[in-house]
Amino acid sequence: MLYNPRKTDAAALDSSPPRDAFVRSGAFRWPLQLLLMVPIALPVLGAVGVIGFLAWRSGQMAIQDLADQLMVQVSERTQQRLFDYTSRPPKVAAQVAQDIEAGRVKLEPRNLKSLDAYFLSKSRAVPELSFVYAGTSQGYLIGAGFLDVAAAAPRQLLAVADASTQGRYLAYAVNPTGQRGELLRQTPNYDARRRPWYQAGIASLKPTWTDTYVSMGQPNAGLTVTAVHPFTQGNQVAGVAAVDFSLRDISRYLQTLRFSRSGQVFILEPDGKLVATSAGQAVYQIQAAQVQRFNAYEHDDAVIRETMAQLRGKLAMVQSLKANIAGESRFVRVTPWRQQDGLNWRIVVVVPEREFTHQIEANNRTALLMSSLALFVAAGLSYLMARRVTAPILQLSQATKEVAQGYRRQISTPQWTPELEEITDSVNHMAARLQRSMTNLRSLNQELFSSKQRLYQMMEALPVGVVVIDPDGKCLYLNRTGQLLLGLKQIPQVPLERLARAYRLYQAETMQPYPWESLPVVQALKGQAVYVDDLVVRLPNTAIPLEARAIPVADATGKVIYAIQTFQNVSARKRAEVARAQSEHRIQKLTDNVPGVIFRYVIEPTGHDHYAYVSPHAREIFGVDSEAVQRDPQMFWSLVFPEDEVAIRRLLPEKNKTMAPWSVEYRIRTPQGQVRWLQTQASPEQTADGTTIWDGLTLDVTERKHAETVLYDYRQHLEQQVQERTIALQQANQELERLATLDGLTQIANRRRFDLYLEQEWQRLARDQQPLSLILCDVDYFKCYNDCYGHQQGDHCLQQVAQIMRDSIKRPADLLARYGGEEFAVILPQTNRWGAAQVAELLRSTIAQQQLTHQASPISAYVSMSVGVATVFPTLDGDVTALIMAADQALYQAKQQGRDRVCFMPTDEPFAQPPS
Ligand code: GH3
Ligand code: MG
Ligand code: MG
Repeated sequence: MLYNPRKTDAAALDSSPPRDAFVRSGAFRWPLQLLLMVPIALPVLGAVGVIGFLAWRSGQMAIQDLADQLMVQVSERTQQRLFDYTSRPPKVAAQVAQDIEAGRVKLEPRNLKSLDAYFLSKSRAVPELSFVYAGTSQGYLIGAGFLDVAAAAPRQLLAVADASTQGRYLAYAVNPTGQRGELLRQTPNYDARRRPWYQAGIASLKPTWTDTYVSMGQPNAGLTVTAVHPFTQGNQVAGVAAVDFSLRDISRYLQTLRFSRSGQVFILEPDGKLVATSAGQAVYQIQAAQVQRFNAYEHDDAVIRETMAQLRGKLAMVQSLKANIAGESRFVRVTPWRQQDGLNWRIVVVVPEREFTHQIEANNRTALLMSSLALFVAAGLSYLMARRVTAPILQLSQATKEVAQGYRRQISTPQWTPELEEITDSVNHMAARLQRSMTNLRSLNQELFSSKQRLYQMMEALPVGVVVIDPDGKCLYLNRTGQLLLGLKQIPQVPLERLARAYRLYQAETMQPYPWESLPVVQALKGQAVYVDDLVVRLPNTAIPLEARAIPVADATGKVIYAIQTFQNVSARKRAEVARAQSEHRIQKLTDNVPGVIFRYVIEPTGHDHYAYVSPHAREIFGVDSEAVQRDPQMFWSLVFPEDEVAIRRLLPEKNKTMAPWSVEYRIRTPQGQVRWLQTQASPEQTADGTTIWDGLTLDVTERKHAETVLYDYRQHLEQQVQERTIALQQANQELERLATLDGLTQIANRRRFDLYLEQEWQRLARDQQPLSLILCDVDYFKCYNDCYGHQQGDHCLQQVAQIMRDSIKRPADLLARYGGEEFAVILPQTNRWGAAQVAELLRSTIAQQQLTHQASPISAYVSMSVGVATVFPTLDGDVTALIMAADQALYQAKQQGRDRVCFMPTDEPFAQPPS
């Protein structure tokens, strides 16, 4: 037993046996008092039992004997009486037959009176209710006897049927003088030969009894049997003498027997037809002139019917039996009764058993009472005797206990027996020694107590549950943490097989009750040290996963005496495991779903490199299992195009140094021979020991690369086309520009060009403060020319004029333009009045010198030209219009003055040659 410090110290030292000392290690121990009482009381109990049983047995046998005696007696008396009844009728019938045969009686009508007297005297010879008569072979009948009337005294009657009665049967009452008196009854068409008694006599031809039948003459007599005796005259059967015997007499006799309160006697024929009964049950009845004989097997009376059911097939000889009949146990005796002259009946006696049991039961009650008294007295005496013996022993025992506990030092009991005094001395001696040992033991116990208390406090303070179980499953100790963990207020005490249920322990994976043989504490009890972490304790609102360790503790012989199990709540750890598993599952799903290879590439400070992780998509992208890549990094590099590998490896040290994220594209050739473009993006990380870890993702970009190539080619093609088109456009633009500024007819600058150039030079020369001159030329009488030579010739003339003028203009800044119709203008930047005059004159004179025929001109035979010249210093706020108007005025002046000349615009400026 584990030490429990809550008990007092004294209790801890208490070495007295537990209260239930009789139940120890499973065997029942008898208290001394009981042990002494039992040998005395037990034989008495046995004797009483045997006596009771024998009394009951002899009672039963006595009942059987009594019943047998009674039934034999009744049967014999009935037989005797039947014999008496049936012995006389045959004798009387024989006398009648002999008298007739001897001629002492003549059956003739004339002798009726004497016949009446004869038959009356014969009938009186039979004391019972009888009828004596004779029938003749002519069918006549004569006889006399007693009419049976139930209530009054029997009356005598005479019966006759002969030639004098014309075939009728007449029955007369007999009057006091012995003569025929009142006619009681008459039956027509009577013939004695048809009657059963006559036929029985004729059939047997010797004295016999008829079968049982209903008497015609005396139906009130009930069933009748008739003794018949045939008689002869001269060797011829002349008739039958007969004596009736009414069976009602037998019934009356049986009713007078009164041998028992409810016993019955009944007589029947072998086929079961009733003859007589003691209880007056129906024997026959007449229904619609038919006689109905009652059959005992089917009788209304339950006693008769059920008795017959028991006797079926047992009627031939004497039988005795006991059976349950009509609801109670009854004795039955059947006795066959047979007569040589034909009667064959059975006498049945039935007696209820209860009529014999009253006395016997009274005897049994007395015996039982006496036995109980004897038993009580024996028990009382044995108890007193046992007390007398055990009291001093118990006193000694109590005193010894007190000595053992230290409450008493000496035992002194002078009134005790000498044998016990000796024991007392020994005990006193022992007590002295015990006292000394006790003192030692107490100090040892004190020490043990404090050390155990420390251990207990420690156990109670432990953050893990501690339970101690012995091999019977009994919980010897469960600390506080254990109680809280298991949610127990009371510690269940159950056998090992029910530990799992009692402590609500389940298996974590299946949530089935934990198999008791696998419980750590059970395994420890078998001598094994065990650790499990799949225990779950189910509390009303929660389930706590536990891990548990159990060790066996053995005694000196090596036998395991208990097992210690420690256990703790591992919910937090289990939750963390579940979370980690879920996170790993998520990452796994992620790596499965990312359409590329996720990897971790590690370069150690030694330069040695390897793949710490490669996701399963390596199979599809590299054509190599991720495990193979992880095993051998060279396997991957062997796939990379050599020139790309060189490029990557050249860049790797630099990237390792900068630790910047890196993206690179390169080609591989898979073991299956496919060429793929891959793009790898990776970010580096450096650990404390100098290892570089590249975490990255490699994507298959083959398709993108193909698309890029196609796109590049297409752009190149487009760029070339654009270049070609641009050149063509530039040329077209130049042409357009040229066309936009040239005059179509003369191929010199047109008016638009003239305007732009004039404005441009105006601005420029305004800034430079240089002079600008403008010459306007107009072909004289050109309308006449057209009229004279036609318009086409006119155009040709204008082309010639333009050509001539162009050839005359020398300075590149000078611009010759067609101003409109047959008018031309020359812009002369940085040209003063004098210079402009020179050019104007040159132009006029050159045209004149060319001598282009113009017959229609009033002033010359050749084409001539009037010229107006104007010169200004342009200003930024000034306007070209003034210059044009000035030149136009000068031209108008030249026209006015007679044409073919040069005029200058009016000005203050001297018309002089500038200094060179
Ligand atoms: P004037 O001496 O006063 O200048 O007389 P004119 O006839 O030259 O002057 P006018 O202004 O009256 O007539 C100009 C004529 O020039 C009218 C027109 O028929 C002719 N002309 C103008 N432009 C062209 C052209 O491009 N080709 C041809 N063939 N004739 C033109
Ligand atoms: Mg003109
Ligand atoms: Mg003109």
